[in-house]
Amino acid sequence: MPDAPQIPSKSDVVVIGAGAAGLATAIAARRADPSLRVVVLDGASRPGAKILISGGTRCNVTNGAVTEADFWGGRRTVVRNVLRAFRVADTVAFFRDMGVTLHEEPGGKLFPDSNRARDVLAALLAALERCGASLVAPARAHRIEQQSSQFLIETSRGPIEATVAVLATGGQSLPKTGSDGAGYAFARDLGHTIVPTTPALAPLLLDATSATSIHGAVSGVALDVEIVIWIDNAVTTRLAGALLWTHFGASGPVVLDASRHWARARLEQRAVRLTVNFFPGATYESLDARWRGAATERPRSSIRTRLAASMPESLATAILRALHLDGDQPLAHLSRADRRRLARMLVEWPLSVTETRGYNFAEVTAGGVDITEIDPSTMQSRRCPGLFLVGEILDVDGRIGGFNFQWAWATGHVAGRALSAAVRARQ
Ligand SMILES: Cc1cc2nc3c(=O)[nH]c(=O)nc-3n(C[C@H](O)[C@H](O)[C@H](O)COP(=O)(O)OP(=O)(O)OC[C@H]3O[C@@H](n4cnc5c(N)ncnc54)[C@H](O)[C@@H]3O)c2cc1C
Repeated sequence: MPDAPQIPSKSDVVVIGAGAAGLATAIAARRADPSLRVVVLDGASRPGAKILISGGTRCNVTNGAVTEADFWGGRRTVVRNVLRAFRVADTVAFFRDMGVTLHEEPGGKLFPDSNRARDVLAALLAALERCGASLVAPARAHRIEQQSSQFLIETSRGPIEATVAVLATGGQSLPKTGSDGAGYAFARDLGHTIVPTTPALAPLLLDATSATSIHGAVSGVALDVEIVIWIDNAVTTRLAGALLWTHFGASGPVVLDASRHWARARLEQRAVRLTVNFFPGATYESLDARWRGAATERPRSSIRTRLAASMPESLATAILRALHLDGDQPLAHLSRADRRRLARMLVEWPLSVTETRGYNFAEVTAGGVDITEIDPSTMQSRRCPGLFLVGEILDVDGRIGGFNFQWAWATGHVAGRALSAAVRARQ
């Protein structure tokens, strides 16, 4: 193993965190001003762990269509301004120029043509080296202090002074990758408000003892559904996509997207519940009418056969068992009350969520540094001049589909282009 590079005593720019946002920032900064001294620190000896595991190790780099509506958290106008300053086409060009071409898959998801996340990371690290920024890893920042027009950063490899500092430390999901939420304390100490954090894009744990608990019986089954989020007994959000039943509860894209809504409502101590519509787009009335029609057309067909025409048979069996309905019974024998009960439950199946699966299984963190405290044209702090914040540390979380990386590339480029002027202004 070659010796880890030494940490210099001083730099114009110190980026803390060599994840997607930190790497993009450093590359953009050096490209905008090759005379700028840029040092990137990371606490992990091999930075970029999240890029490597992302998108099932294929890295869903971005999405064909990204707008502020794909994100939750802080003020949408701020998110919009950042996204407009570095668009999807810019991300595609950024990667193409580094030798990584992308292709689009269903849902607008863009992946590298090689389908290898490691090619994405390798391209970023090579570009970083080519443009002359220094990566020092492992070097964990322990403290940042503002001293007149400089920052003093204490690290595991000794102190470093910076004219401007960039916090790119990520959120606190999957803390073993090195993103453990340490950056929130730095931001708070430098004057920022931290919107309380919760896991987001996390699987959900379901109560195995509830009357409608079926996950244990259908673990491994996946199907397209609609999840409806009810807060204080009113529908607030409808999400469509694939749900995967698991031994602990539920996962799959639509569940991951729903998790942040559940967690935020709980954080706010509001009454939240989730229901599943097994027939996306159908209402109780339309489904009841469909079952009535089926009983006339095929009176001798069993309820299970009818239900299994629209879903895996194991799921149909589990649903009928939970409702104490005899699946072998012919449609003609299904009482009006039972038919109505079945139709209601098929469009409003309760998910008795006990918790999210937590930060160890969450893809991102909701909450973080309040984005109204950031200038979206530069990503510079309005609270602490000379400090820049990029990526997931901010109170912005995207839905599944490449949106979180787009936020990292966009914030990184917006900051990177602004760093030279900020350094000159502080010298
Ligand atoms: C399993 C999984 C799959 C995902 N798949 C996708 C996907 O396909 N598409 C998508 O858009 N998003 C995906 N995401 C989300 C995406 O990975 C993150 O949103 C994105 O990586 C955030 O980038 P970031 O640079 O802000 O933070 P991070 O990638 O978390 O990087 C932060 C870096 O800062 C370092 N650091 C933290 N504290 C310190 C410190 N005190 N000193 C020094 N260094 C420090 C960490 O070691 C880390 O390297 C996935 C996430 C997970 C967990």
